[in-house]
Amino acid sequence: MTRILIAGAGIGGLTAALCLHEKGFPVRVLEAVEELRPLGVGINLMPHASAVLHGLGLAEALGEIAIRTRCIEYRTRFGHVIQSDPRNVEAGFAAPQYSIHRGELQFLLLETVRERLGKDAVLAGKAVQRFSQSEESVTVYTAEGGRLECDLLIGADGLHSAVRRQIHPDEGPLHYEGTMMWRGAVESDVIADGRTMVIAGDHDMKFVTYPISERARRGGRALTNWVAELRRDRPRDIEDADWTREGTREFIESFREFMMRDMNIVSLMEATGTITEFPMVDRDPVDFWTDGRVTLLGDAAHPMYPIGANGASQAIIDGRVLADTLADMPGPEGLLAYEAARRPATAEIVLANRRSGPERVLDIAAARVKGPGDRIEDLISAEELEEVAAGYRNTAGFRKQGG
Ligand SMILES: Cc1cc2nc3c(=O)[nH]c(=O)nc-3n(C[C@H](O)[C@H](O)[C@H](O)COP(=O)(O)OP(=O)(O)OC[C@H]3O[C@@H](n4cnc5c(N)ncnc54)[C@H](O)[C@@H]3O)c2cc1C
Repeated sequence: MTRILIAGAGIGGLTAALCLHEKGFPVRVLEAVEELRPLGVGINLMPHASAVLHGLGLAEALGEIAIRTRCIEYRTRFGHVIQSDPRNVEAGFAAPQYSIHRGELQFLLLETVRERLGKDAVLAGKAVQRFSQSEESVTVYTAEGGRLECDLLIGADGLHSAVRRQIHPDEGPLHYEGTMMWRGAVESDVIADGRTMVIAGDHDMKFVTYPISERARRGGRALTNWVAELRRDRPRDIEDADWTREGTREFIESFREFMMRDMNIVSLMEATGTITEFPMVDRDPVDFWTDGRVTLLGDAAHPMYPIGANGASQAIIDGRVLADTLADMPGPEGLLAYEAARRPATAEIVLANRRSGPERVLDIAAARVKGPGDRIEDLISAEELEEVAAGYRNTAGFRKQGG
């Protein structure tokens, strides 16, 4: 049976390991860090990504830790609700959208991999440095001098992927458009109905918040994730994007002008213990992912702006499609079939996210709504807003049943 090595025990690599194991492949995951820790703050899983995890038998476990998101509410900086975009099963989706702590999701996947594939299926402290390959196999070289053999190598090693660097050695630095994001999670009073993701502002200045832990919900309190975005830099090349870098706090002042009836944005951010800082970066889509017996998956394949809940969702879908195609064609031709199914679709999302994705409704509103006294319904039609939402659902690949 085809032996598969995956570089990277992130959301994409671990999901791929579970899907490949389900199809009967012997799989091991090589992870660079010595000790995995539940890092990150909130992420969202779109309904079709949740459906993949449900298919792996994780619905009950997800229900215990993640919030079932009811809707995404887009607001102006004055607090008007521009659009409420439902994301729940009642709205016709096959599975819920989940808001979840990235670390909790990664650990759920990690524990499941260890249970199903064996305690040694994930080898920590093994940073993949490079590979060589012949007609029959791949040799993987790790930073501490190790050498491992396999039949196929999947590069799921994230934004700064070493596997991608070898496949595309001439690719330049990350693409940065000048927007910095500050992120944090803090216990707070429940916002709205406790199942709503609020996205307020516009392309230059935005605030996003949503609850992320079903376990932490009690007595009107919730673990609340937030992201503040400011576009204040020039677009330029950048290389040092790091999800764990601690951020400064001066940016908080800029958000005093936001008027939200049901939350105090500034107090929420000020009460947060650790704030991280991450530039909004992606890469131009490349014209191939697969080199013989090696391919890419998740952020290594298609790093994109974290807009529209796509980073983790698309990585999860990659894992499902990879396993399904390899089950039919368990060799290099299977990798090419996987790439043919996923590369054009994800390239389109990378480019749609540069145009703000579903958040384009914010910019439409910002151009027309000039103060708290303006009425949205006088300035924008419901049809215009639904056209943006439906267009993005189509691009991102999730649809309402029957829709
Ligand atoms: C520490 C961390 C915190 C994050 N926090 C957030 C967050 O708060 N919000 C958000 O939206 N997204 C966050 N992300 C990104 C998000 O997880 C991804 O965009 C998305 O889940 C796609 O997952 P992925 O598996 O492709 O990549 P990732 O989740 O980035 O996983 C890549 C994995 O590969 C490992 N790795 C890197 N290089 C090598 C190598 N050479 N050899 C072997 N392993 C390697 C990394 O340690 C990591 O475990 C974070 C990523 C990381 C690594």
